[in-house]
Amino acid sequence: MDAFDTLSDICETRHAGDGRLRLSPANADQLSAVLSTANRHHLPLSAEGAGCYRWMDGAREHTPLLLDMRHISGVLDYQPEDMTLTVLAGTPIGEIRQLVAENGQELAVDTDCPESTIGGLFASGWNGLRSRSLGLNRDKIIGMEAMLPDGSIFQSGGKVVKNVTGYDLTRLLAGAHGTLGLFTQLSVRLTPAPRQRRMLLWPYAHLQTAAQDMLKASQVVQLASCGTIPASLIPTIGDSPLCDAEVLGWAIIDDGPLAIRELTSRLFQALGKTLIALDDGERLDAAWDELLAAPRTFLNEQGGMIEIGYPPAAGAEVLECALEGTNDGIVYADRGVTYSRCRMDYPEPIHQLREKLQAFGAHLQFRGNGPEGLDYHGKISAWPWLQKLKNELDPQHILNPGHGVFRAT
Ligand SMILES: Cc1cc2nc3c(=O)[nH]c(=O)nc-3n(C[C@H](O)[C@H](O)[C@H](O)COP(=O)(O)OP(=O)(O)OC[C@H]3O[C@@H](n4cnc5c(N)ncnc54)[C@H](O)[C@@H]3O)c2cc1C
Repeated sequence: MDAFDTLSDICETRHAGDGRLRLSPANADQLSAVLSTANRHHLPLSAEGAGCYRWMDGAREHTPLLLDMRHISGVLDYQPEDMTLTVLAGTPIGEIRQLVAENGQELAVDTDCPESTIGGLFASGWNGLRSRSLGLNRDKIIGMEAMLPDGSIFQSGGKVVKNVTGYDLTRLLAGAHGTLGLFTQLSVRLTPAPRQRRMLLWPYAHLQTAAQDMLKASQVVQLASCGTIPASLIPTIGDSPLCDAEVLGWAIIDDGPLAIRELTSRLFQALGKTLIALDDGERLDAAWDELLAAPRTFLNEQGGMIEIGYPPAAGAEVLECALEGTNDGIVYADRGVTYSRCRMDYPEPIHQLREKLQAFGAHLQFRGNGPEGLDYHGKISAWPWLQKLKNELDPQHILNPGHGVFRAT
């Protein structure tokens, strides 16, 4: 019996059309058997959840096996009073949202893609819009069950908020893009859903002027989030007084009516600008969805994308240096992050920009789709240690070659 026959006996398999075999394990036992078979036969495989941002995730290697994690799905335990939830890793975020909303709660990860699996979301290491007020995505994980590349299973943390003994291994897998192991179950901390939300928008003719205001806006503490966005990405503003703006400043306030009034007035004092308020209702929901989806709408498949993390106080200089006077960027000012389309040739201009930005304490990541996708992070000083870890946990490098940091090899 060859390896593919063995795999077909373990779980549902299908030819993916591109010569790859798509494996859909239905539970952790099947997943474990798949991984040990792949190891035995030296067959590399790529895990996938919903694949929401697949094209932006750099040059993944084309492996003979595709591991579809979406069938390991379902709610295992929900404790509304404790605000904790345990689910299988292939459970879609949309399903979780619906369940916990019944109790006025949320898993505050702010993705625009409800079909995202919770495992893929935490493995990708991205952070939600409101991470300043609600914490980084990885901080929501209180426990996990995970599988190492050899198919062995282990747990870390548990179902209560204070429960980690020894190293918090959930942090090892969160953001590792499935290169060190796969989540099979996740326990997460929920938060009360906001009692009320307001989005404030205000106009600018140019991103440079906006950038100078952003530090002031981000210093209005307790705003859930603030930044700037090309106005064309929020079509909901329609024929409002904002419709002639090139760039919009935006701020999110998630709280009760008193705090909303207080923070609106503090932001007005800080900026000295007329602010347009969108309160609960269809217009707010539409603008919120547009804001969440903005990176996906804005960054196209051609040419790659540049992500810059910077100290918020250096925001104006960093944006001037990186965007060269264009309005072509989405700015999350409170976190000090900007996304822009890459308008440069690879590789020298990217390296030069990275060096220039280092003078401001900023860090550039480049995500391309071709061979240039390899230049993801630039130089990584911990690289030898990352390799040692990978070699220890996945000596044959069968799991997710080319994903995450390992595209830098
Ligand atoms: C430009 C951009 C903007 C983004 N903005 C946001 C945002 O605002 N908020 C946010 O939360 N996210 C954001 N993301 C990340 C995005 O949410 C996630 O990539 C996606 O939601 C992950 O879910 P998925 O099921 O589609 O995972 P996939 O895309 O299928 O997988 C993502 C990675 O995780 C690995 N993986 C899949 N399942 C598992 C598992 N069970 N265990 C371990 N590894 C696994 C995959 O191999 C892959 O490397 C952004 C991504 C991009 C590129």
